[in-house]
Amino acid sequence: MKNRMHPESLMMSHGYDPQLSEGSVKPPIFQTSTFAFKSAEQGKAFFEVAYGLREKSLDEQLGLIYSRINNPNLEILEDRLCLWDQADECAVFESGMSAISTVLLEFLRPGDALLYSMPTYGGTNHFINHYLKSIGVDSIGFRPDQTEEEIIKMVRDAGLENKLALIYIETPANPTNELIDISMCKSVADHFSTPEKSVYVAVDNTYMGPLWSSPMKHGADLVLYSATKYIGGHSDLIAGAVLANHELMQRVKVLRTFLGNMASPHTCWLLLRSLETLKVRMEQQSRNAQEVAKFLIDQDIVNKVHYLGALTPDDRSYDIYKRQYSSPGAMIAFDIKGGESTAFKFLNALQLIKLAVSLGGTESLAEHPATMTHIGVCPELKKHIGITEGLIRLSIGVEHHEDLIFDINRALKQAAMEVSTTSLATA
Ligand SMILES: *Cc1c(COP(=O)(O)O)cnc(C)c1O
Repeated sequence: MKNRMHPESLMMSHGYDPQLSEGSVKPPIFQTSTFAFKSAEQGKAFFEVAYGLREKSLDEQLGLIYSRINNPNLEILEDRLCLWDQADECAVFESGMSAISTVLLEFLRPGDALLYSMPTYGGTNHFINHYLKSIGVDSIGFRPDQTEEEIIKMVRDAGLENKLALIYIETPANPTNELIDISMCKSVADHFSTPEKSVYVAVDNTYMGPLWSSPMKHGADLVLYSATKYIGGHSDLIAGAVLANHELMQRVKVLRTFLGNMASPHTCWLLLRSLETLKVRMEQQSRNAQEVAKFLIDQDIVNKVHYLGALTPDDRSYDIYKRQYSSPGAMIAFDIKGGESTAFKFLNALQLIKLAVSLGGTESLAEHPATMTHIGVCPELKKHIGITEGLIRLSIGVEHHEDLIFDINRALKQAAMEVSTTSLATA
């Protein structure tokens, strides 16, 4: 009976009983480090479960012990997040990066190898290529246009076929919405799995957000989010989440207990508030983005618009898009003629849209990937995935789309003046 209603209907109630909190309609912030046991026997019983000395009985909840292990705000939030991804369990972290690094540390040991999609989030890339490397975890990246056969061959040729333990992908990829086929990655994982060792697939689903894609349905074992982005949605907090089945989440939660990187009660409370409007926010954001993309496609100064809604059946990614996503989302990138100087002129001319990194919030943001979020990507890969000097990334918010288009149009006109004066100067 539990999951019969739509997630948006349950975001105000699921996992919380007002009668346990003086009838308070909203969960209070349980700003406490520790919880009083009713008896010594109860304390013992809670610890036995927390330490895995015995399995919970069927109707038994993990008792509240200490806020690094569990807290009502954390638990209610995790229960509600499970509804969007239809996952068994969730763990919320103090940042997206702590969710990601905890998963990588739990599923990779010295001597193991990681296969990951490129480009990946800058922080993730650094953790993979610096920290993991320093503890003896080999990594190998693949590009969105590589086929299953090519990827398998690449892993073999690098001598990593017996070491492969995890496949980590980001799709849609930041900033140009390149798509990776999750079921293809699952098939690569199965190819390298043995009876002794399962190769898992982890998907960072931050860029699309939890509404319009369910990576687990396509073979993902673990789904990760920077909850700072769409889930938080107001650009006022930092948090992360991991979802998976019970067995994998037990491993993630045990490591979280000892790294101590869970989210605080206050952050969880803010996220509960955010979840109530997740669907209405994201739907408006995507509707706005579709209008903005339509406008951009018609502009002479725009070379190319990277938006899922602009894919046609001729595009390589079209089939993946139709299979994996039920909306084009609200992230757009476009390539402006004239390179960095025109792009900067455009960014500096925006008034309603803020010039800032991050994404998924109620306010629209613009940034220049080549010199900001993706400054660390090697030139060859930049070229391959379309991170040009003129590329601008937009995260579309909930404003009125006419005002967004007005702001963009005005900034494009100013940038166009720059292009015409430079071409005159060089003529
Ligand atoms: C922002 C982001 C992260 C990192 O999350 P934080 O909450 O900033 O730690 C990871 N992956 C993607 C795709 C992101 O956009």
